[in-house]
Amino acid sequence: MTRPALRILSLGAGVQSTTVALLAAAHVLPPLDAAIFADTGWETDEVYAHLDRLEAEVFNPGGTPLYRVSAGHIRDDALNPTSRFASMPLHIRNPDGGDGLLRRQCTDQYKLRPLKQKARELLGYPVPYAVPRGLHAEMQIGISRDEFHRARDSDVQYLSSAFPLLHLPGAADGREGWTRQDCLRYLRTHGWSTTPRSSCVGCPFHTNAHWRNLRDTQPKEWADAVAFDHAIRAGNARGNARGRPLLGTAYLHRSRQPLDQAPIDRATPREWAERQTDLLDQAAETEIENGCSPWSCRGGRG
Ligand code: SF4
Repeated sequence: MTRPALRILSLGAGVQSTTVALLAAAHVLPPLDAAIFADTGWETDEVYAHLDRLEAEVFNPGGTPLYRVSAGHIRDDALNPTSRFASMPLHIRNPDGGDGLLRRQCTDQYKLRPLKQKARELLGYPVPYAVPRGLHAEMQIGISRDEFHRARDSDVQYLSSAFPLLHLPGAADGREGWTRQDCLRYLRTHGWSTTPRSSCVGCPFHTNAHWRNLRDTQPKEWADAVAFDHAIRAGNARGNARGRPLLGTAYLHRSRQPLDQAPIDRATPREWAERQTDLLDQAAETEIENGCSPWSCRGGRG
C-alpha cells in the first residue's frame, strides 16, 4: 500500500484514544494531521469537558485540528417520530416472556459514518466524489493489548487502520503492546487521571458499576437516562408512528426492569473478577471505565 496522505486519530475521548493523543503530542508516536470525534449528542458533561481540555491543552498547542462531527442526536432521534433512527441495542422482553436484544445500528450510524465522511472530506473527496485508488488516510485507533481481538482492517479503501498501542514497548509486564492498565498509569502520571468513560448516557450495554456511578455521581444524567428508559418502553417513536410497533417491551437495563428499579447494586460476575485485581488497578478501574469506541464498541464489557 502507498504511504498514507494523512494520519488521523479516531478520538473516542476515552482512556485508549486519549493515551494515543498524548503520546503523539509527546513525540512517542508519530504526529497526527487531525483528530475526529464523532458525537452522538448524548455523552456526559464530563466527556465534553474532557474534549475541550484535550483541544486546549494538547491539540491546539500542537497545531492538530480536532473535528467534532455528528449524524444527529441519538436520544432525540429515538423519541422523535419524524427522525430517522438507527436502533440502539435495547433489551427486550418478548410477548412470550422470553428475552431479546435489538440489533445495534447506532455505532455505525452515529459514529463510524460521520467519521468516514470527515476523513473523505479531509482527503479532498467528500461524498459523492470517488476517492482515487491508492489515496488513503491512516486511521489511528486506540485499542490496547487486552482487547486486541477488536482490531480489524478498514472496510473502505480510502482508510487504513493502525493500532499504535499494540506495538508500544514499555508495558508493565515487559511484553510488547500496552494494556488498558498501562494506559491508565500513563494518564495518571501525566495529569489526565480524570479521563472519563466515553459512551452514550443511556447505552443499554452499561455495566451495573457504570449505572451505579452515574446514579451516585451524576444525578442530572441519571435522571435523563431514567426518563429515556421510561419513554422507550414501546420502542422507538418512528417505528410506532409508521405502524411498525415493537413486539414486546424495551428497557435500558439487561434485567429488563425499569432502570430506577433495576438491581444495579448487584455486582456482576465480571465485577467480582475485577475485584481480584491489585488495589491500584482496581481503584483506577472504578475511576475510569471503558466506553464506546467508534471502531470497537466497548459498551458490552462487564
Ligand atoms: S454507546 Fe451504546 S448507544 Fe451509544 S453508540 Fe455506542 S452502542 Fe450505541
